[in-house]
Amino acid sequence: MIQTNFLGDDVEIKKKKNKYTFGGLKSWQQYKDKAFHYLSLGAGRQSSVMYLMALNGEIEHSPNCAIFADTGNEPEHVYSQLQFLIDENKKTGGKIPIYVVSAGDLLGDSMAAINGNDIWGDLPDGSSKWGGVILWAGNAPLKRLCTIDYKIQPTQKLAKKLMIENGFKFLVDWRGHTVDEIHRAKQDKRRFYWCRWPLLEKRYSDNDCAVWLQKNGYPEFLWSACIVCPFRLNQLEYAKKVKLMYPERWENEVIKLDNSIRDMSRFGINSTCYLNSKQMAMNDFVELEEIDNGIGFDFCDNGCGL
Ligand code: SF4
Repeated sequence: MIQTNFLGDDVEIKKKKNKYTFGGLKSWQQYKDKAFHYLSLGAGRQSSVMYLMALNGEIEHSPNCAIFADTGNEPEHVYSQLQFLIDENKKTGGKIPIYVVSAGDLLGDSMAAINGNDIWGDLPDGSSKWGGVILWAGNAPLKRLCTIDYKIQPTQKLAKKLMIENGFKFLVDWRGHTVDEIHRAKQDKRRFYWCRWPLLEKRYSDNDCAVWLQKNGYPEFLWSACIVCPFRLNQLEYAKKVKLMYPERWENEVIKLDNSIRDMSRFGINSTCYLNSKQMAMNDFVELEEIDNGIGFDFCDNGCGL
């Protein structure tokens, strides 16, 4: 296509293929039968719908298993939802087994590090590296390591082991992103590893998932994320919900962590730290009527809702 620019020149505009939304969506298919397929299960609404659809044969090619990575800090309703899925699988005679993996207790490990037990080790310069939950240093998020350490690595470690044990050479990771969050669907660059997004293939939104559950006679599924997740707590509505639904955990986990993180200088973090980008103590933050979440933030990727 020829287009005239502001200098009056005619320039040729070539149409570029969008790898993420089209090429990326289909690329797993060439490995369909040569790959071990695992479903990244966060046990929130979207990944649970993907799992139930697979169990009901509504998605082309069944996954070999589903893997739930437990950070130890999920809300109780997530464990109930996980148990529901395990029970549904039993009714089918174990068609898609669910494995639970864990790399430790994210909040417990974070608190231990804050209290001086360097569970993530010292850096050569004598300082300590922060590897716990994501924090807002001032109003900017710190590099997120919790997703990698507590979700992605333990899940992929088991997936690789199962791939080898079952004689496959490739992995296909089923992820539960919907069209509301298509920007998070990024194909992996490794040669033996492909992502698949069955809900995107169906052009499903989060609301479509809720409707599907209702239409098929399943209970309502709620979100999954760590109780203390600062990506989620940065949303006023979510923070209020956690305080209302889990008042004890609010006091014993959210407030306890919040009170411990202001000074993180021993980890080389010079800004004052908070669990929200408004830089407020959580008990003050949750009293606000409304906020403008101006800063772009994301949720946990793999199975944290993931
Ligand atoms: S839900 Fe939040 S705190 Fe938990 S692993 Fe994901 S990003 Fe980290």
